[in-house]
Order: sequence, then structure tokens, then C-alpha cells
Amino acid sequence: MNRIPHWIDNTTYDDPSARTSPVFDPAVGAQSGEALMASDADVDRAVASSLAAFPAWRDTPVTARQRIMFRYRELVDSHRYDIAKALTAEHGKTIDDSLGEVQRGLEVVEFACGIPHLLKGDFSEQVSTGVDTLTIRQPLGVVAGITPFNFPAMVPMWMFPMAIACGNTFVLKPSEKDPSPSMLLAELFADAGLPPGVFNVIQGDRVAVERLLAHPDVSALSFVGSTPIARHIYATGTANGKRVQALGGAKNHMVVLPDADMDLAADAAVSAGYGSAGERCMAISVVVAVGDAGDKLIEAVDQRIGELRVGPGSDDGSQMGPLVTAAHRDRVRGYIDAGVASGAALVADGRTLTVDGHEEGFFIGPTLFDSVTPDMSIYTDEIFGPVLSVVRVDSYTEAIELINDNPYGNGTAVFTNDGGAARKFQNEIAVGMVGINVPIPVPLSFYSFGGWKESIFGSHAIYGPDGIHFYTRQKVVITRWPDPIHRGVDLGFPQHG
Ligand code: NAD
Repeated sequence: MNRIPHWIDNTTYDDPSARTSPVFDPAVGAQSGEALMASDADVDRAVASSLAAFPAWRDTPVTARQRIMFRYRELVDSHRYDIAKALTAEHGKTIDDSLGEVQRGLEVVEFACGIPHLLKGDFSEQVSTGVDTLTIRQPLGVVAGITPFNFPAMVPMWMFPMAIACGNTFVLKPSEKDPSPSMLLAELFADAGLPPGVFNVIQGDRVAVERLLAHPDVSALSFVGSTPIARHIYATGTANGKRVQALGGAKNHMVVLPDADMDLAADAAVSAGYGSAGERCMAISVVVAVGDAGDKLIEAVDQRIGELRVGPGSDDGSQMGPLVTAAHRDRVRGYIDAGVASGAALVADGRTLTVDGHEEGFFIGPTLFDSVTPDMSIYTDEIFGPVLSVVRVDSYTEAIELINDNPYGNGTAVFTNDGGAARKFQNEIAVGMVGINVPIPVPLSFYSFGGWKESIFGSHAIYGPDGIHFYTRQKVVITRWPDPIHRGVDLGFPQHG
């Protein structure tokens, strides 16, 4: 049995008496390994290691930190296939999709290679007679990251390269469902010359999370996962005096106006609805068809569904893999049952799919519902599977109101050839990331990623410029050197130079 340990001080750490959690190969439906589940003492060991490493890492010249980031960039680049393979083996997504995930994570490392420039402060000369003001950005200390199963390489890389380049030390708690990619990422960072303790990985579940939330030596926490847990992390972490950013779940709508290019819209709906089996926080799960767009669109989407190749992620020919666990597959199946029971029209039914030679795999085929209404659970809940719901509305105004009334606000898109309609959308929609004829509007690493409403808790989005702000504190320094003008005692606030 492949045992997945912790990573502390640039080496593996195993605790023979630890609890473990099973890790599966979702394509065959069998257990492939077991991950250690950290105790409070294991978390304390990792945090102590990161705390000890912090002073020297904070004082390491920013150019030396930059050189390590460049070496890391090269190592992740040259091992991208190994990381992708480990990712597909535990998550199930296709190798091609895994390679894309590694690429998007690598782009954050590339952004972090510019850290000397990104940490530059401001300077104002002569704000008063002989007085200058400057700002500097300093690291926070030990920062923790807690990440979801659906992007086991990219989401950790949204966090730790930024935090570490800024001079913090980092403890990562990856998802217990697919923990191996984090171990590879940590080993490569050690190979790049990162000192021991600067990046530790602790395998675990809610026990480890609760200890990180309570630990007095953890200064800040980045979380990405579902909304109920994000809310809990934010409330508990901030109550314990920590800086917290917590990104939550989503229900992303794609509006299709009658003037849209229907082939483009259908390609986009299928790609964004069923890519990674719908297990993406930016997946499209609701298509809002305005006016007579519905009939044409559903026909085009259904035809494309019939051509999709579902199979093991490791097969080159597969376009969509299995779901991550049997429990998750059963949950998604339950939503399809509920959709049928509530009266939605089932156009394509993924429950009947079997994959030859992989009968025990956690597969569900692409599923399409028409005539979905906002009171149905397939509309209200984040299903996180290959289930696309079409809601039909009479007007564009109704489509915008539907999205703005939704508690989530991660991503959304509009498909139209009308520039005025597109501009109205970008202006009025209450969602953090908006696509105009782009179904999954994920910003590149030099912008920041973050939704609105219940898709995020805290005031900082992740990576990019917000990442620099989140992982550093600003200090303002006001200087005056002795000069010939001695003003004497003055108890008032200065009014002018
Ligand atoms: P999850 O919330 O179940 O788990 C996320 C992390 O929290 C994991 O590390 C897990 O071990 C830990 N955790 C789970 N239950 C906990 C508890 N009760 N107490 C403390 N910690 C707990 O999420 P998931 O199923 O791994 O990932 C899917 C979710 O993540 C979806 O809701 C998806 O939308 C969301 N997500 C959001 C974004 C974003 O950027 N907004 C990105 C990726 C995924």
C-alpha cells in the first residue's frame, strides 16, 4: 500500500501510529494508497519547523529568493508530466487537463519570480520640511494553506509560491483525497534550494485544519474549498486574530442571447460544463437561454454530448474522466434523481453510462436538463459533477436578475454578438469574474482571482497583486534628520509644511 507521509524540513515524516485516509484511483474504483492524517502534535511539529525557518528566510535577500524561484520554475516545468500523472492517478481528470492545471500553477511561480519588483514600496520626498515618507512590505511569518481536491497542484500553487517569495514560511494542508501532487511540488522546491522548514506539507483532515486555525504561531490562512467550510475557516481564523482569505463554492451561469453564435455557445457550454467532469469551481452549471435561444442551443449541446469520449483520464482518447470518489459519484447521481423527480426535462442521462473494462470506476456521463426552475435542488445547489441545467427566461433583464439573486458570485459569462448587451452585462452583473464570449474567465497570474458574495470571505482575492498584499504587511516610515530648524514642542497635528 502506497503510504503518503508528511513533508517537514525538506524530508518525509511518517508517524507509524497515525490515522490514515484511503486514496483511490477513480478510474478503476480501487484504493491505491493511504494518506497519513495529522494529529495536533504533527501539525505542531510542522508549524514549529516553519517558525524556526522564518527569521533566516525573511532576511534572505530578495534577489536570492528570486533565484530559488527561477530554479523552481525550471524544475516544475521539466517535471510537469510527472506531476500531471500523479494528479490524474488520484483525481481522475484527463492527462491533458492535468497538464493544463500544472501550467496554470506554474504561471503563478513565474509571476513570483518578479518578487524584487513586486515588493517595491513607495517613497515621497519632502512631505513636510526635511521630512520624507516611505513604505515597505514585510512578510507575516508562518502562513497556512488549506486546499480542495479538484485542483491538487494548481490551487496550492496559487498560494505557496507567492507567500514564500514574499519571505513567509508556509504549511500546506492539501485535500486528503489527492495528496500526492503536493509531495512532488515540495520535493522539487527542496531540489531548487529552498531551505528546510520554509515549505512544509501536512497531510490531514478537519483535525489538522482545526489545529492550524487555533495555532498561535500561524499568522495567516489561505483557504479554497466549499462555501460552508470557507465560512467556518474565515469566522474561526479571524476570531483567533489571523488574517484570512477563504474562497468558497460556486454556481456559474452562462447567458446565451438569441443573437449569439450558437455553435460557439454550444461548444463553450459543453467544454465548460463537462470539462474535468464538472469538478471545477469555474465550471458552467447553468445555461440561461434567453427568448428563442433555448431550442437551438439544446439541440447543439445534445449533439455534442453524444460525441464526447468518457474514459480513464490516463487514456489519450478520453475527454472526460470519472468523479473523484464513489461517495461523490453517488451524491451527483442523487441530484440527477432529484432533478427528474422535481419535473425538469432530462435530455441526456449520464446515470446509465458504463466504461468498458472500468465498470467499477466512479464514472457518470454528461447529463443535460431542460426547463429547470430556480426552486429545484439541481439549480440551488453546487452539484460539482457533469450536470448542466438549462433555465429558460423571456428577457435579458430576467437573466441578469436571476444571476444577481444567486448567493454565489464566482464566475459568469454572456454569449452575444451585441456590444451594448455585453457592456450592460459587465456593468450590472454581481459576479467577480466575467466572460464575454469566454465561458471560464480565469485571470492569468498577473491579475488576481476571486469571486463575490458567498464565493469568497475576506477582502483579498488570491495570487497576483492581491496575493502580494495578502502575504505582506505594509509599514510606513516617516523620517527627518536633524536639520537647522528646531521647531520646539508642538502638541497639535501638523497642518502644513
Ligand atoms: P471541501 O470544502 O470539502 O474541502 C476543502 C478543504 O477543507 C480540504 O482540505 C478538506 O480537508 C478541508 N475540510 C473539509 N471538511 C472540513 C471541515 N469540516 N472542517 C475543516 N476542514 C475541512 O472542498 P472540496 O470538496 O475538497 O473541493 C470542492 C469545493 O471547492 C467546491 O465547492 C468548489 O467550488 C470549491 N472550490 C472553489 C474554488 C475557488 O476558487 N473559489 C476553487 C476550487 C474549488
